[in-house]
Amino acid sequence: MWIFASQEERDGQLALLKCSPCPHCKHSGALNRHGFLKGYDELNFRQKAIRAIRVFCSNRGGNQGCGKTFSVWIADKVKRLFLDVKSLWEFVEQAATTGNKSRAFQQLGCSMGDSATYRIWKRFLQAQSAIRTALAAVCSPPKQPTDQPTAEGYLLPVQGTIAHLKEAFKDSKLNPIEAYQVQTQSFFI
Ligand SMILES: [Zn+2]
Repeated sequence: MWIFASQEERDGQLALLKCSPCPHCKHSGALNRHGFLKGYDELNFRQKAIRAIRVFCSNRGGNQGCGKTFSVWIADKVKRLFLDVKSLWEFVEQAATTGNKSRAFQQLGCSMGDSATYRIWKRFLQAQSAIRTALAAVCSPPKQPTDQPTAEGYLLPVQGTIAHLKEAFKDSKLNPIEAYQVQTQSFFI
């Protein structure tokens, strides 16, 4: 998988596809565009939209590739999530800060209900250790008093993750989740 910061960067790399090494087998010269990954997202509830571009490492017609495919993403999307990262960031930051997940989700003005709220929050909770491990490779967590009072009494682990994300990518023009996805070449949740 490749994740790019912008469509321009993605298209620049795709223009060089024929000279790029395959992420699976490292062979150069066998990569070809191979259709699209489609799915539903925030802006397209009624019809599937293009979410990523597929690339095939050709093992046909004399090509020396491995025959595997991979997908090429722009960092504003998360796989299997209809929210874009801007909305996802607003949601997790608000929910972690206020402790009120439902209200944080309603503020997105999104027509999905409570089950979506809890499903996304659960994915975020389940991703905590992976996120923290990845962030630790970027910078150490910001120092925070652990007895700092919050809406729920004490600083929550998820608030630590949010603070760490902001610290790690404070110089990036991208939103912290986009920056995370580009930096780690993996999805945030
Ligand atoms: Zn390959």
